[in-house]
Amino acid sequence: GPNESDAIDSQKNASHAALDAVHHERTFQGHSMLAPFTSGCQQTEVEPLIIEKGEGIYVWDHNGKKYLDALAGLWCTSLGFSEERLMNAAWNQMTKLPFYHSFWNRTSQRPLDLAKELIDMFKPVKMGKVFFCCTGSEANDTQVKLVWYYNNALGREKKKKIIARQKSYHGSTLSAASLSGLTPLHTGFDLPASFVLHTDCAHYWRYHLPNESEEQYSSRLADNLEKLILKEGPETIAAFIAEPLMGAGGVIPPPATYWDKIQPILKKYDILLIADEVICAFGRLGTMFACEKYNIKPDLVTIAKQLSSGYMPISAILLGQHIFDALASYSNGLGTFGHGFTYGGHPVACAVALETLRIYKERSILVHINEVAPIFQTEMKKLASSPIVGEIRGEGLVLGIEFVGDKKIKKSFPAEWGVGAYFSGQCTVLGMLIRFAGDMAMMSPPLIITIEEIHEILRISAAALKATEEHVLELQKK
Ligand code: PMP
Repeated sequence: GPNESDAIDSQKNASHAALDAVHHERTFQGHSMLAPFTSGCQQTEVEPLIIEKGEGIYVWDHNGKKYLDALAGLWCTSLGFSEERLMNAAWNQMTKLPFYHSFWNRTSQRPLDLAKELIDMFKPVKMGKVFFCCTGSEANDTQVKLVWYYNNALGREKKKKIIARQKSYHGSTLSAASLSGLTPLHTGFDLPASFVLHTDCAHYWRYHLPNESEEQYSSRLADNLEKLILKEGPETIAAFIAEPLMGAGGVIPPPATYWDKIQPILKKYDILLIADEVICAFGRLGTMFACEKYNIKPDLVTIAKQLSSGYMPISAILLGQHIFDALASYSNGLGTFGHGFTYGGHPVACAVALETLRIYKERSILVHINEVAPIFQTEMKKLASSPIVGEIRGEGLVLGIEFVGDKKIKKSFPAEWGVGAYFSGQCTVLGMLIRFAGDMAMMSPPLIITIEEIHEILRISAAALKATEEHVLELQKK
């Protein structure tokens, strides 16, 4: 769609606008690393922001400048950057057993403990097993393979297509990027792969029809999903994958009744539901899992990021007993379940994750989130009165701001103005890290954030917004 091609352009200018705000001198000689999600000109011409140390929810760059990290790294450092218990958990495990794999029925104790803990924690449905990977992308890749394997086990060779949503983000491996509904992940990479179909992005503010209520909008999206299933043939559709609340696509909470209306359609056509909770899980929305908040009953779940507070690379899939049962008997016939990763269930990563989950419990992290999040949401949403803000949306401790050139018709700014980038750049100058994509700005601060620190986010956001308004006025004069 038009929004996505914008995204590529604005990514280009944007990057410069944002970084220019920080680094005035262009003396950078380049470095040897190929940087992810960074344009070629940025890689070669603009000095990267090099983060050197962290404490609490703050990080310092190599020039000693301090930043409130309002994105928690990449939506992950829930416990901030200096939780000693996590360091000790890693050290203790390192000194006892720094590595073991889980192939051929060999394993170590920590992944077994963590799997049990995760099954106990996940309340929306009773899950059967946990499979460990290292990244969200790997886990979603594995989801596709599990779904295919499952349908082969049931003798349904044709039931292989996966439906995902426009603007979704599921990662950047071949199949995770294919599932993702963001053009920059596809263009130039010969993606998406043909087994993926994309249905509507569920964003009421942006896409609803005149006089259409949220409930009516959700009904229309459920109808569209059903139409797509019928057009392709239900016997060809294996699964539907979605983030309960969309993250990287712009922080988009589901419209009212969306999940109530989508799930019966999936049931009706025997289509598995994969909930990608990589951003949402472990309290981000004020519940342990987003599936609790939206009454989602998934067959498979992807978790990562806050599972280890980002301190170690670890992700996992929770799979229903029915998936395991089919897989188990099928693999008997084949000789093995031929899938796994060297570092899946890494004992150090599992030890850190177990300690992270212990801290969430001991410190009643959900109680804390539900105390501070309403202030964050209510106060930040007041900034929506700005003439250049179209919508501020979010739940719990995740929030998105969408800038618009015309509030009435929700018209975006010209991509080359880099308005989202300018706002992000101003935040950087003022000592706060966020992320932007096109004209959207996103925040997901560490879950341990205090009220005082939320007020700091509010102050910096308001100042950055004011500077952005002035910048836009200048551009409009030209
Ligand atoms: N799913 C979602 C919902 C995500 O937000 C992300 C990462 N932002 C991923 C999957 C991919 O995770 P990773 O970068 O660890 O591969």
